[in-house]
Amino acid sequence: MTNFPAADALDAVVARIEAYGVPANDYDVLEILGTILNDYGVQVDDVTEGDFLRLLTLNHRDDKTGLPCPEWCSRPAGHPFESEFDDGRQSRPHETKLPRPDIPGGVYLSLVQEDVRAKGDDSSAVRTVPEVSFAVDASFQSDELRKLAAALLNAADKLDDVNARQDKQLTDDEL
Ligand SMILES: [Zn+2]
Repeated sequence: MTNFPAADALDAVVARIEAYGVPANDYDVLEILGTILNDYGVQVDDVTEGDFLRLLTLNHRDDKTGLPCPEWCSRPAGHPFESEFDDGRQSRPHETKLPRPDIPGGVYLSLVQEDVRAKGDDSSAVRTVPEVSFAVDASFQSDELRKLAAALLNAADKLDDVNARQDKQLTDDEL
């Protein structure tokens, strides 16, 4: 049994995750590992680095796409579909980070949109309406709350701007 990941193995994993378009600095690599491996019903400690890399490659084998991103998406062009619904449809998240308040604690603030298609079939793809995704895990002083409020107002303006330049898309309820 291999303790995974060792430090050098972690570097390899980060490089591989970045190659798939996930900005590793923005995520907990071990959490990503755990999520992916859990999908396969195995424990992190039971997996060697080589096995993990093979799993990750398999995970994306059928997920390539020729669909363009929205103009504002910050991921690499052609980034793959990343997850699957119970009915077999696949989802591909577009994302760009929005300006976050300079305050302690974790604040996640991004413009997001999603392509959904039948497995491997770009021609079936539909795109959801753009939305702002926001999560926060912190407690605030009043000045920090005002910075947060300003960042949220800016996010609303950005969303209006993107919506004004895109045709009607599907809402989550219409998927
Ligand atoms: Zn994209």
